Parts: sequence; structure tokens; C-alpha cells
Amino acid sequence: MQDLKQVVVIGAGVVGLTTAVRIQEKGGYQVEIVAEVLPSDPKNIKYTSHWAGAHHVSHAGADVRQQKMDQETFKTMWELSAPGGLAEGCFLRIQEEEYFAEPIATPEALQVMPDYKLLPSDILPPDCAEGISFTTLTIDSPVYLNYLLSRFLAAGGSVVRGAVQHIAQVVEGGVGIFNGRKVLSSPSAVIVCVGLGARTLGGVEDKDVYPIRGQTVLIRAPWIKFGRAISSKGGLWTYIIPRRSGDIIVGGIKVDNDWYPTPRHETTQDILKRGFALCPELAPPEIRAQREPVLEDLQPIIIEEGCGLRPARKGGIRLEVEWASVQDQKKVPVVFNYGHGGYGYQSSWGSATLALELLEQALAESK
Ligand SMILES: Cc1cc2nc3c(=O)[nH]c(=O)nc-3n(C[C@H](O)[C@H](O)[C@H](O)COP(=O)(O)OP(=O)(O)OC[C@H]3O[C@@H](n4cnc5c(N)ncnc54)[C@H](O)[C@@H]3O)c2cc1C
Repeated sequence: MQDLKQVVVIGAGVVGLTTAVRIQEKGGYQVEIVAEVLPSDPKNIKYTSHWAGAHHVSHAGADVRQQKMDQETFKTMWELSAPGGLAEGCFLRIQEEEYFAEPIATPEALQVMPDYKLLPSDILPPDCAEGISFTTLTIDSPVYLNYLLSRFLAAGGSVVRGAVQHIAQVVEGGVGIFNGRKVLSSPSAVIVCVGLGARTLGGVEDKDVYPIRGQTVLIRAPWIKFGRAISSKGGLWTYIIPRRSGDIIVGGIKVDNDWYPTPRHETTQDILKRGFALCPELAPPEIRAQREPVLEDLQPIIIEEGCGLRPARKGGIRLEVEWASVQDQKKVPVVFNYGHGGYGYQSSWGSATLALELLEQALAESK
């Protein structure tokens, strides 16, 4: 029987789960995830992935590495979301319209999307310089995270809950230190996918990592089957993201270095006001059939307010390898894959592929 290489992935957000699936399904590896928060837990400020809309609308701009990651991810998700596809129920294919207050500086990341076109200027909302539309997909985040977890387990991976204080703990003892294994051993490699946790995790302590706080409102409006977003001159985005379930995410805000962990009421009111101005169709169709809808018509269909901390990093996603020693002897490669900011879903498969390549190069070097 083939000797499997033991790999520990720290983190079970969309990045950790996707990376773990990629490595486990490659063959030749036994992957174990250790994470403080798991996808089946209640929503938690320490776990950003639960709070994402999420849609695939690349912000890669002119960054070619990021464009490639986003495009690979779109291709994979498009296949998963096909009618009868493996994970059709996690996705909704939609037409997205985006309105820009300023001309789009670097449109190349979006020009590759199916059905991309510039919208005629006479149909743009007031104060908009440009508008585009294209076909994309949205992801029902909590459903998709559990899909990834079950796919990982079905491929033979395993998961243990644990809060790692310092990467040296798993570099030397593997995940066994968290599930009471009597015989502990050092893994072949460790992959760090801890999102915002990279700021504080011992042995990483990356001060380039910081939160960009987002806040959203989840409403029930199964009649909305399109995505729409608009930017303001100040750079604030308002967006509507429909999920397959009929729930809609209305957002949003982006505030650097704001750690506040619960929704602020006044922000919720502002988001609803902006969301309704962008998309009056959020109001129930039976009301719109009788009279002009008003903002208050959204109150009965609100499910919850939410906020999350996007794990941003100056310089973008960290994808690199360092070597850690076990008691000054064996060297273990540590692969970093964190810092996905507001694009962790839409770049997840592409960054997992790069993490796997780094892992395989490092293991080849250590032979
Ligand atoms: C409002 C909002 C809207 C968004 N919309 C989109 C969108 O439309 N499209 C998109 O692509 N992205 C979107 N994002 C961004 C996306 O949610 C993030 O990029 C993504 O969730 C980051 O995933 P992650 O796995 O890196 O981090 P997380 O989901 O935070 O997971 C981190 C994992 O690491 C674990 N961990 C951390 N430290 C330790 C430790 N010391 N020991 C053990 N475990 C540890 C945690 O427990 C957790 O399991 C949005 C985010 C927000 C907040």
C-alpha cells in the first residue's frame, strides 16, 4: 500500500476547506484539518466565511496572479453549478449588472466573464459613468461550506477542533495533540489557512493582515433572480446578491481596521435604504402590483443582520513556504495560504491549486 504523506491544514473556512479538498483528492496524502471554528458551528465573528454574500465578481484589476486564481475558481464553480452538477444546489447562475460612479480603471478581470457587455449610457442610474453586465454565479455560503466539508470527509480527510497557539505545536505533534492521540508524530507538511487569525497565530504573527469590516442584511425575496451593484463617488458599494434558496444578501460597507463584532443598527438602516434605492424590486410583488413600494415594505422580510471581518493583507494573498524545525532537527515545510480579503470564495480554487504546487515543490526539495 502507498505510504501516505501526513498533511495538517490549520483553518476550516472556505480557504482551508478548499485547500484540504484539493490536496486530499490529489492522492498520496492523508490530510487532517485542525480549526477552532468549523462550518457547522453557529455564525461567529472569528469565522468570516459564514458572512460572505457571496458572488463571483473579480476585483483582480490588473493583478495577473489574482486574475488567474479568480478565473480558475470561476471555471470550477461553473462546472459544480451545472444543472445536475455535483453541487448545483450551492449556486445560482445569474445575470449581474454593475454601475460605476467613475469610469472602470481596469476592466480586464471582468471582460472575460460570459456575456460581458457595456450598458448603454441612457439606461444608467443618475450619476453613473459606466455600467456593465455579465453572467456569473452566487454561492450560498453556509450550504457550500458544508458541501466542501462533506466532500473532504468523503475523500478520506479528517477534522479535529482545536485552537493552535503556535504553529510549532502542530509542526512537532500533528493534530494528535488536539484529539488525545497517545503516539504523536510530526506531519510531512503544515498548511496555514487561518484568515484573520494569521495576525495573532504564534510563529506567523503577520502584521500586514488586518480586518475590513463588512455588514449586510439577509432578506427573504425569492422573486429576485439577478445581481445588481452600484458604486458611489466615495467608493462605497451597494449590492444585491440572490442565493439559490431565495434569501438575498443586501450590502454593504468596507471599513478598514474596524473590529466591531456585531451589526450596528444605523448601518443596517443605511444599507436597507441604499439597497432599496438600487433595487425597488426587493419589495414583495403583491405590494408592487397594488402601489408604489416604500422602504418599510422590507421590514417583514428581514431575516437577520450580519457582519464579518474580511481577512485583508497588504500585498494580497500570502502564498509561500517557510521551513520549521522540530527540536532543531527535522525540517517541515509550512505553506501559507491566507489574506483573501473580500475575495476568498472567488479565488478559493485557484489559490488552493497554488498552495498544492508549493507543497509538492517543497516535499520534492526535502527528499
Ligand atoms: C460581508 C462580506 C461579504 C463578502 N462577500 C464576498 C463575495 O461576494 N465573494 C468572495 O469571494 N468573498 C467575499 N467575502 C470574503 C470572504 O468571506 C473571505 O475572503 C473568506 O471567507 C476568507 O476565508 P478564510 O478561510 O481565509 O477565513 P475564515 O473563514 O475566517 O476561516 C479561518 C479559519 O481558521 C481558523 N483559525 C484561525 N486561527 C486559528 C488558530 N489559531 N487555531 C485554529 N484555527 C484557527 C478559524 O477557526 C477558521 O476555521 C465577503 C466577506 C464579508 C465579510
